[in-house]
Amino acid sequence: MNHQTTGRMRSVFLSVLTAASLSVYGEEPKEIEQNWEQLEKIQMMRDDEILLSQMLPIVHCSFYPSKYEEILLSQLRNSESSTKQFRTVSEKIGDLLVNKVIDCLPTKIIEIETPVTKCMGTVLSSKVEFVSIMRSGDAMLETFLKHFPEANVSKFLIQRDEKTAKPQFKYMKISPDLGSGNSVVITEPMIATGGTLEMVISMLKARGVKEENIIVASICAAPEGLILLNEKFPKIKVVITALDQKLNERKFIVPGLGDFGDRYFGTSDK
Ligand code: URA
Repeated sequence: MNHQTTGRMRSVFLSVLTAASLSVYGEEPKEIEQNWEQLEKIQMMRDDEILLSQMLPIVHCSFYPSKYEEILLSQLRNSESSTKQFRTVSEKIGDLLVNKVIDCLPTKIIEIETPVTKCMGTVLSSKVEFVSIMRSGDAMLETFLKHFPEANVSKFLIQRDEKTAKPQFKYMKISPDLGSGNSVVITEPMIATGGTLEMVISMLKARGVKEENIIVASICAAPEGLILLNEKFPKIKVVITALDQKLNERKFIVPGLGDFGDRYFGTSDK
């Protein structure tokens, strides 16, 4: 098989998808290839949770929403929902995501005393830090901080180029304790291409955060983004409310819920 044929065949199965631009390190933006074969398989296996978890072991929760999550998601997806409704429902889904994140955190058993007797109790065994990817990560952050009021918060501003959907690094402010073995929870309501998360996780790793200490909390995930994260960072954990179908040509999640940040902050074009 000559070089050209191989190239043509590759382009049948692989197409270029958004990749993290690591220009913050002085590197050229890279392009990554979408594994179409795996994408097709995941789309065909949507109803088989065991196979899905074998293909995407980074996902540490059910791929399917519970009945309550389904009701909340339907309100979020509905374009008729007002900004107030969208915010209220996001907070409720956020509370349920906190529960899934806590299931991923290390705990230890301690002895406690109730007003009646001594018994064994459970506490978290490591500190938790948050990383918020502005703007939409900030929308979930408040909900998480209700449960972890002492936690440090690092912030990243990475904007998606509207035309190419490529992430572009703009700003970060990082907690000094980030790399000291704490659990690091990244709040990112939508996992679309995974390009922004690829950039943020690479930057966290460069600052000493271990992959196995990273948990990504997300409401809607496209299979494309999960495949990328699973390939690049097999030791991270991801919790989601729903696995959506796919990305459209503008790299929006389908069925999705539109631009999360715009809907939450009320900045959608009318
Ligand atoms: N970000 C969003 O807010 N929505 C999408 O559908 C994809 C990325």
